[in-house]
Amino acid sequence: MNEQELQRLVEHISITIFRKPFRHRASFNRRLKTTGGRYHLGSHDLDFNPLVLELHGMEELEKVVKHELCHYHLHLEGRGYQHRDADFLNLLKASGGSRFVKDLRQAGIVAPPKWLYSCSACGQMYPRKRRIDLKKYVCGKCKGKLKITG
Ligand SMILES: [Zn+2]
Ligand SMILES: [Zn+2]
Repeated sequence: MNEQELQRLVEHISITIFRKPFRHRASFNRRLKTTGGRYHLGSHDLDFNPLVLELHGMEELEKVVKHELCHYHLHLEGRGYQHRDADFLNLLKASGGSRFVKDLRQAGIVAPPKWLYSCSACGQMYPRKRRIDLKKYVCGKCKGKLKITG
């Protein structure tokens, strides 16, 4: 999805769900880390994290768009646009927007195990993030001795 398509999607959701036009800019912003989107109070523009679409698909992106449009329309109308405001919570519920964005951490960012142990008797592998004390730990399957494999 490119930015033009995103812009059209936001305009479409705004007019069909909120019955009001979206007259500002919607763009993708890769610098958003754990948030799915952001409403700019000053410019009234919306930013969206491309990871929402990449990791969770179209349906989830639409929920995030609805969430940001709740901020947008309520703020422009001078109503309660913040997360704790009743206006916001009611509109969010009515529009079907997401309350919290799904986990946006990418699988690859989690550190892979650094140590690989194996059982010297049955060969069972034990990848571990930290060094383990070979005198204390034995194989969980056969109680055999463990050795460092990599
Ligand atoms: Zn929000
Ligand atoms: Zn074993």
